Amino acid sequence: MTIKTRFAPSPTGHLHVGNIRTALHNWMFARKSGGRFLLRFDDTDAERSKDEYVEAIRADLAWLGLSADEEQRQSTRFDRYEEQFARLKAESRVYPAYETAQELDLKRKIQLGRGKPPIYDRAALELTPEQIAAFEAEGRKPHWRFKLDHAAPITWTDKIRGEQHFDPALLSDPVIRREDGSWLYMLPSAIDDIDMGITHVVRGEDHVANTAVQIQMFHALGAEPPEFAHEALLVGTEGKLSKRLGSLGVSSFREKNIEPQAIVALLARIGTSDPVEPVADVQPLIAGFDFARFGRAPARFDEEELAQLNQKIVHLLAYADVKDRLPQAMDAAAWEVIRPNLHDMGDVEQWWQVVTGPVSTPEMSLEDQEFLSVAHGKLEELETSSELWKELTGALKEATGRKGKPLFMPLRQALTGLDHGPDMNALLPLIGRDVALARLAKAAA
Ligand code: GLU
Repeated sequence: MTIKTRFAPSPTGHLHVGNIRTALHNWMFARKSGGRFLLRFDDTDAERSKDEYVEAIRADLAWLGLSADEEQRQSTRFDRYEEQFARLKAESRVYPAYETAQELDLKRKIQLGRGKPPIYDRAALELTPEQIAAFEAEGRKPHWRFKLDHAAPITWTDKIRGEQHFDPALLSDPVIRREDGSWLYMLPSAIDDIDMGITHVVRGEDHVANTAVQIQMFHALGAEPPEFAHEALLVGTEGKLSKRLGSLGVSSFREKNIEPQAIVALLARIGTSDPVEPVADVQPLIAGFDFARFGRAPARFDEEELAQLNQKIVHLLAYADVKDRLPQAMDAAAWEVIRPNLHDMGDVEQWWQVVTGPVSTPEMSLEDQEFLSVAHGKLEELETSSELWKELTGALKEATGRKGKPLFMPLRQALTGLDHGPDMNALLPLIGRDVALARLAKAAA
């Protein structure tokens, strides 16, 4: 059996870090098992679903490298839902209910007031044909509920949470369809999971109770339920679900020059018993992916950790990985020299400018100006070579007696305009002898 997972966002907004994590785990598990990964847009809500979000979600997943093998949209499948609904209706597994939202709210309040759980009382099942006719004559339209079978407990072995056990009598019969005929998430999702051959449903633990209900839907539709893995939710550094996480998505990561590899490396591992490691290649992460490594405690997402991981990953990126994002004239050798100095890819321009100029010359003391003028003379005597820095500093040491910081610092400042930066051995050949002469002359003047 081919493993097939799905990521099923509702295109009513942008992806945030929590659902990126779910998408990633579905994708990784499919890739690890040689299976397929389906991107399914849960767009039954015509009001709130927008094509711009469909496109944005596709683009975000593509940027992250999470390629889908197949794409589906629920909005193209209404006929199928209608067909399966008719089947459930014929088998009395769905029933109409006429309570208004206010009536239901009142029932819940009364139950809570009596210290009882707010479970739907199934009053709709007791309606006589006359009562139903009266509601219809009033112009009331029914919403529809799925009738849970109370006969046996609902159980499954969750790949993350282990044995799960629900008493269906403690669950409300879920509303699956609204008065206006529109669908709630629960039934179309189960129909799709069956029709699309989904073998593993990987999603957040906020769906655990939905799973109990959907397991009965699978059976009612004549199918075996898939396997389930419910992962612990993502929390911020303050240890709770924050608004901030809800608004943190690919566009904010891109703005901060976070690489997709860093997001993948972090989200693949937080909440698991494996350490977060700087890896620029997703293959070892896929190879090690295992639901058994996922913990029950919330996964902590720390933006600072992401920034640090990002820096380490940038230091691993090969020229070929970044070539298209570098200044045109910057070659592989220049990338190697500049790379260790980057906090993120946004720093490239700044360091490239140190090579190409102009650089601002800092104020120099008279002694240093004199020293730099000697340096200018020495450099003039030298030929271009990859050893230029060694030769220049060697000659200057001999001529002036300077060593250590007093020898290196004025040179670095004159040549780069900064007092820190790339290894001068590697940087000077990039700057080039002629440009270096001009910079020394300027600083000495
Ligand atoms: N559209 C649902 C959601 O975004 C999908 C849940 C699921 O994975 O079944 O919550």
